[in-house]
Amino acid sequence: MIEEALRLQVEEECLKIGCCVRCARRFTGDRVLDNYVKHTVESDATQADDEPPAKKAKGELCIFCFGVLAPGDIEDIAMKAVASLTEADYDDPVFTTTLSMPVCNLVRDKSIYVHLGRTVAGYTDQVKFLHLLPLKDIWKHLINGSIAKGSGKSADNGYNAELMVNVEMAYRGDRREMEVISKLRPELRGPVTRTTADSTLESSTEAALVRCLRLPPGPPVAPPTYQLSCLRNAIFVAGRYNKYSRTMSQTPWTVDGARRTESSLQERITDRLVQLTRSAGVRFSASGREDVDVRTLGRGRPFVAELTDPHVTLLTPKDLLELQREINAAHPEVRVRDLQLVTREQTAHLKSGEEDKTKSYTALVQSLSGPVSADKLYSLADHKELVISQQTPVRVLHRRPMATREKTIHWMKAEPISDTLFKLHLQTQAGTYIKEFVHGDLGRTEPNVGTLLGGTFDILALDVESIELDWPPAMPENDGDT
Ligand SMILES: [Zn+2]
Repeated sequence: MIEEALRLQVEEECLKIGCCVRCARRFTGDRVLDNYVKHTVESDATQADDEPPAKKAKGELCIFCFGVLAPGDIEDIAMKAVASLTEADYDDPVFTTTLSMPVCNLVRDKSIYVHLGRTVAGYTDQVKFLHLLPLKDIWKHLINGSIAKGSGKSADNGYNAELMVNVEMAYRGDRREMEVISKLRPELRGPVTRTTADSTLESSTEAALVRCLRLPPGPPVAPPTYQLSCLRNAIFVAGRYNKYSRTMSQTPWTVDGARRTESSLQERITDRLVQLTRSAGVRFSASGREDVDVRTLGRGRPFVAELTDPHVTLLTPKDLLELQREINAAHPEVRVRDLQLVTREQTAHLKSGEEDKTKSYTALVQSLSGPVSADKLYSLADHKELVISQQTPVRVLHRRPMATREKTIHWMKAEPISDTLFKLHLQTQAGTYIKEFVHGDLGRTEPNVGTLLGGTFDILALDVESIELDWPPAMPENDGDT
């Protein structure tokens, strides 16, 4: 704190130039948030003649906070926040608040600071190292209690809560007042952002500030308007899926705006999830993807659903198990397992080392060049760690850049069905194009089954048998109490 005599002088000067009582206190360098609550109440109730006037004339807006710290505005916004939270019915027990001020607030901050330095002797020396409290911290401290009381939730005065009440202040004079930034830094191009305004004000000399700023700032040209919104950070639900259909795509598939498939696997999994959590939207990602006509068997393919602005987040393992059963009962061609809540950080497992992972497949292969002996087919198993070279397949060239990649077939094993039909079991590096390895893709994949066996082959069906990703962890399939 600064010396008492100086503090009174600063407060008096601030009130004189048009600050409210709370902003006046802020410019004295007071960093004790509780003082801002107490201060106003005391001043309002027991104002003596020799104390600085605590209330500003009716209708006059504070030149620094534009009235956002005034008890009336605080209560008004708190009421709206409570109404908004009640209507949205978030199940989060904790919220936090954020206030976004117009950028010109930075200019006014600097301008009041410079003005005080020039009118109150010793101000700059004593306040320089105090770091004046950010306006939004004072606001947060004043408003959180009211919102907590009205909403029945508890307030987080830091920034750790997942549920946020965001208040954005708009001010008609903002752009006009920002012109000073271009005056201070004529070489600046493009729109003035908060960051450029801040760095410009901080790097300008006192002489330049005195020349360009209006000292002290004038009254606001119009009252501010507020926009209030609530937002809950996303939650992430991970799991694994099996796809038993050869006509379903993983993601909604449209060509020229028209749907190509009925409903995607993604929608079958996430529609119910979005409904249950009352989320605004969903982003689905999986460890790779299979073609429409490829099934995914075994323990399934790991996936993550990111649910944005969810209103229901307190999901127990039992809730998720129930949801899992619902999805599986509604869609026999889809099966999900291991549904669980994960953190944003954990979702990185899905993509990490994607190239190093191995995948196992079974392909149904037909010879187009006559019978092939069983012995010949068995000889395929002699190829271990076979490195093949694949150019981007013709069928995906419209969405993937042209490139040649080396991929490893770790092992393969043929299982004859007839003299022209066999199953090929194989384990490969992730990202290997299996269909192309079988039919050769007009020589774009070398070697391929055709060059290895001598002949022409086509693939009739393909199944993904397993994806070697040990995430997310397996979950019990029953409730534990049955
Ligand atoms: Zn104020």
